[in-house]
Amino acid sequence: LNRRLAGMGTTIFAEMSALATATGSINLGQGFPDTDGPEEVREAAVRALREGRGNQYPPGPGIPELRQAIAEHQQRFHGLSYDPDREVLVTAGATEAIAASLLALLEPGDEVIALEPFYDSYAACIAMADATRVPLTLRAPHFRPDLDELRSLITPRTRLLLINTPHNPTGTVLTAEELAGIAAVAVDHDLLVVADEVYEHLVFDATHHPIAALPGMRERTVTISSAAKTFSFTGWKVGWATATPELITAVRSAKQFLTYVSSGPFQYAVAEALALPDSYFETFRQDMRAKRDVLTAGLKEAGFQVYDTAGTYFITTDIRPLGETDGFAFCRALPERAGVVAIPNAVFYDHREAGAPFVRFAFCKRVEVLADATERLRKAFA
Ligand code: PMP
Ligand code: GLN
Repeated sequence: LNRRLAGMGTTIFAEMSALATATGSINLGQGFPDTDGPEEVREAAVRALREGRGNQYPPGPGIPELRQAIAEHQQRFHGLSYDPDREVLVTAGATEAIAASLLALLEPGDEVIALEPFYDSYAACIAMADATRVPLTLRAPHFRPDLDELRSLITPRTRLLLINTPHNPTGTVLTAEELAGIAAVAVDHDLLVVADEVYEHLVFDATHHPIAALPGMRERTVTISSAAKTFSFTGWKVGWATATPELITAVRSAKQFLTYVSSGPFQYAVAEALALPDSYFETFRQDMRAKRDVLTAGLKEAGFQVYDTAGTYFITTDIRPLGETDGFAFCRALPERAGVVAIPNAVFYDHREAGAPFVRFAFCKRVEVLADATERLRKAFA
């Protein structure tokens, strides 16, 4: 393994899901739903397969129907207008969009400021680009960015801000004011922004604002999302990026040599999913909100300190009220102690001590599964 990836280890999600399988535990670790997305969207994928649409290499930028649907979705929900032919790129999940953006836009030695805790692929992709990550730490109990701290982190080498809202794993949804502050820094220092908005439809007590919609931001922002979270198809790996022709061309330059293309028939299905009526998105959000409330109450009853989650399908907890301090050790022992799997937030920190007492639970599971999990936790700890 080369210097860039040395120390990255195996992703925590693979490790913890394997542990869940091996121990027969309830998996509230890796974020994937236990109910598949809409039947009609699955049928659309089957139809595409049967009718021979997408069984061979789809076009490099993505099929036109999907690019059109992505552009229409950005317009419908966010008032953002993108040209489907020049400003939209279909990728192998948001993961590839993130990787291709960072590989295409960074020079070796560039600094990337990312909200810490950060989704694990960020650190690896910044490293693969031979750039340096600079964490802007979101601190308990509110996990909000400090804009003065952001300004203090800027150096002549700063090239890019990597924003994630709604934020995995804290559940923070950046406010319009915070985003305006971040945008002002980007404009003042002529920085690029990569905005990971995969949880854009999973907001409960807040409004999601795409940073690209702010003045001066469209021309410097690559906005990334995916069908994984919004439509509950994490296995399909259909993601996308929207940005100016110049930025999209750059991202596509990297993407074409990573996977070239992916998910042919599923692209047709996701095009139909993106056109679902508003009621789909609203019902999905309400369902997920109810799950959040069940897991929040259950974790509190079991004795965890629970931080509020305004968006995503994750809850960050503090295990110190349970007399524990090391989330890693706690999560490794949890299957044995309680038959439940969770994720230690420390893996999302550069300075792992800073994340040590935090543990993340996913609530994108059937309510009876959440109830069973919290009952197990209550028996083990309360
Ligand atoms: N970004 C964040 C913040 C995530 O939580 C995830 C997890 N799915 C991804 C990106 C990756 O998305 P995809 O599965 O579409 O690659
Ligand atoms: N995004 C999901 C999470 O944060 C998992 C993605 C993955 O397994 N790479 O749990």
